[in-house]
Amino acid sequence: MNTYDVIIAGFGPTGATLAALLGRHGHRVLAIERDAEVYQLPRAVHFDAEVMRIFQTLGVVDELLPHLRAISCCEFWTADREVLVHVPTDEPTDQGWRSDYLFHQPSLEKVLREKATGEPSVELRLCTEVLDFREDGETLEVDIRGHGHEVERVRARWLVGCDGANSLVRRKTGLELEDLIFDEPWVVVDIRGAKELRDAVIQFCDPARPTTIVAGAHDMQRFEFMLRPGEKGEEMVRPERLRELMAPWVDPDSIEIVRAAEYRFHALVAKDWLRGRVLLAGDAAHQTPPFLGQGMCAGIRDALNLSWKLDRVLRCGADPALLASYGSERAPHVRTFLEAAIAAGRIICTQDPALARQRDKTMLEARERGEPPPTLNSLPPLGEGLLQTPEADRHALVGTLAPQPRLTVDGTERLLDDVTGPGFRLVLRGGEPDASARRALERLEGHAVTWPDGGFFDEHGIHAFLIRPDHAVFGVARTPEQVGTLLEDALARLA
Ligand SMILES: Cc1cc2nc3c(=O)[nH]c(=O)nc-3n(C[C@H](O)[C@H](O)[C@H](O)COP(=O)(O)OP(=O)(O)OC[C@H]3O[C@@H](n4cnc5c(N)ncnc54)[C@H](O)[C@@H]3O)c2cc1C
Repeated sequence: MNTYDVIIAGFGPTGATLAALLGRHGHRVLAIERDAEVYQLPRAVHFDAEVMRIFQTLGVVDELLPHLRAISCCEFWTADREVLVHVPTDEPTDQGWRSDYLFHQPSLEKVLREKATGEPSVELRLCTEVLDFREDGETLEVDIRGHGHEVERVRARWLVGCDGANSLVRRKTGLELEDLIFDEPWVVVDIRGAKELRDAVIQFCDPARPTTIVAGAHDMQRFEFMLRPGEKGEEMVRPERLRELMAPWVDPDSIEIVRAAEYRFHALVAKDWLRGRVLLAGDAAHQTPPFLGQGMCAGIRDALNLSWKLDRVLRCGADPALLASYGSERAPHVRTFLEAAIAAGRIICTQDPALARQRDKTMLEARERGEPPPTLNSLPPLGEGLLQTPEADRHALVGTLAPQPRLTVDGTERLLDDVTGPGFRLVLRGGEPDASARRALERLEGHAVTWPDGGFFDEHGIHAFLIRPDHAVFGVARTPEQVGTLLEDALARLA
C-alpha cells in the first residue's frame, strides 16, 4: 500500500493551498476531492494584504491579477443612505500589498489547484471521497472511494481535514466546534451588467432588509439580502424574487443573474485542531459570518501556519509535539476575527426599527467626533505557540505579522520575501551576524537581510527581528549581542 506524507481531504482553497505549500518542499501529498469541478455557487469575494502576501509566497500573484479588482472603500449606510462608517480599502500597507482585494472565487481556486498539481509530489484524485480512517501506529489508514469504484485503502503519516463546514474528518475524529452564537439566513446573488453601482462594498443597514452590495471582480456585482422571519430561501432565490430585491439598486431588467444561493451564516470554531495524526484546517475548523470577508482568508493562513510545521516534522525530524502550536496559535487569532465579524453582523442585521434608529444616532455621533469605526482596527497576534521565550517581558512584536519592506538590491527595489525567499528571515537594522549566529541561521535554513531604514527599529526599540516562514515575528533582539540567543531559542523550540 502507498504511504503518503500527508493526505488532504478536500481540495477547496484551503486544501489546494496546503497541497501547494507541502508540494514545494517535495512532500508526498495525496489530495482527495469529492467533486469534479471547483465550487461554482457565490461565496468569497474579498481577501486582504496578508493573504496576498501568502499568494506571493506561493508564486501565483501574476496568475491571480486578472481575477482581482481593487475598490476604494467599504461603507455602512443607514436606511436613508447616510454614511455611518467609511473604511478606505485601497491603502498601501506594511505588507507590500494593498489592504483589500476583490476576487472571483472559482477563478482563484483554479489558479491554486494548478499550482498544487504542478508540484510533482502532489497527487490529486477528483470525484473521490474520504469515507473513514483509523490510526495504526506511526501512520493512518484512510478509506477512499472514487465515483463508481470500490473502496480503496491508502496510508499516510498525517491526515488534514480541509473538507469544509460539514467536515467528515472533524465529525469522525470527534473534534467539537464551539458555537459563538450567530445564525442568520441570507440569500446571495451575483449579477452582471449593472451600470449604477459604486466601486465599493456597501453594508446597507436598513432594518427592513439588511443588504450587502459588493463591486466584484470579473465585471460582477454581488448582492446579499438578509431574509426576514418566515421567508423561505428556496422561494427567495427565484429570479423574479431576486429581481424585486435588487430593484432599489439596479434596473432589474438590464442585468444578468449569474448565480444565486441561500446560506445560513454561522460563527463556529473548533475547540481542538489536532487529535492524534489528524488535523483540521479552513472551514472544517472554523466558520465565520462573511461581514469582514475573512472565512477563506483564515483557511489560507491555517495552510501556511500548518505547512511549515509539518515540513519541520517530516523533513527535519522535529518532534511532532510542535504541531500542537498550530491550533494554539491559530484558534485565538480566528476567534478575534470571528468576534469582530459578529459585532459587524449585529450592526448590519438589526431588524428592529427603534434599535436601528438608536444605532444610527450613536454611530453618526461617534463619526462626527472623529472616532475610529467599530471594526477590527489592528490585526490580532497569534496565540501562544512557537514564539520567543520567555513569555514574561515579551516584546509586543512577537507573534504579530512582520512587515514586508521594499529593499534596494543591485539598484532595484524588491519586496523582502522576494529577496530572501520563504523560510526564517533575520532582519537586521545594520551590520552582519557573527559566525555563531550565521551557523545558527544555517541550521534554521534561514537568511539574514539588512533593512537600513532605521525608523521601524527605533519605533520598536530593537536591533533585529526573526520572521518565521508564515511571516509572523518569532522574536526580537533588542541589542546586537542578543541576536545569537534569539536564533538559539528558535532552534531549541523547533527541535
Ligand atoms: C456568501 C459567502 C460569502 C463569503 N465571502 C467571503 C469573503 O469575502 N472572503 C473570505 O475570505 N471568505 C468568504 N467566505 C467564506 C469562504 O468561501 C470559505 O471560508 C472558503 O471557501 C472555505 O474554504 P475551504 O477550502 O476551507 O472549504 P471548502 O471551500 O468548502 O472546500 C471543501 C472541499 O472539501 C470537499 N469535500 C467535502 N467532504 C469531502 C470528503 N469526505 N472527501 C473528499 N472531499 C470532500 C468539498 O467538495 C470541497 O471542495 C464566504 C462564504 C459565503 C458562504
